[in-house]
Amino acid sequence: MFKEFGLKSEVLKSLEEMGFEVPTPIQQESIPHLMGEISDFVGLAQTGTGKTATFGLPLVSKVKPGEKLPQALIICPTRELCLQITKDIQNYAKYLKLNIISVYGGSDIRRQITDIKKGVSIIIATPGRLVDLINRKAVLLSNIECVVLDEADEMLNMGFKEDIDSILDKTPDFKNVW
Ligand code: AMP
Repeated sequence: MFKEFGLKSEVLKSLEEMGFEVPTPIQQESIPHLMGEISDFVGLAQTGTGKTATFGLPLVSKVKPGEKLPQALIICPTRELCLQITKDIQNYAKYLKLNIISVYGGSDIRRQITDIKKGVSIIIATPGRLVDLINRKAVLLSNIECVVLDEADEMLNMGFKEDIDSILDKTPDFKNVW
């Protein structure tokens, strides 16, 4: 049951609304670790098994509301996935006061810079655009506590290793990587 994981009550409320009743196998096995003591984590499961909620639910439960600098980064290979994850995370966080934004290539970067400056809790990004924003000093990663690499294998296949390494380099040593 989702209630056993120690997720915030606001998150349980949105899960109920979304009709999530029983955790999928990867959720059942992983969420207790991700909610527990901080550590790095590798999860392997096929598409459609509920991976987004596996990392998304602990993430929105752990992020502290009301802070201006981003506390979590989710990096994924494509714009489509970026939008999908953003929609899911915003749904989980519907009753929490968190700013969650997506940044990806092919869209107006000035708009993204303005949004980031207003204060953001979680950023969902494709690697190239995030590197661009870091180089323009539009995003500060000194408060990042968690970096999620979604479809990490796919990102390596697509040649994003260098971008990902340079992003991780700009985040604090104390962060966790999932
Ligand atoms: P994903 O593997 O993250 O793309 O999720 C696949 C689909 O399953 C998405 O539409 C999720 O909203 C849905 N889903 C994930 N976990 C659950 C759950 N525990 N109960 C019902 N639906 C779920």
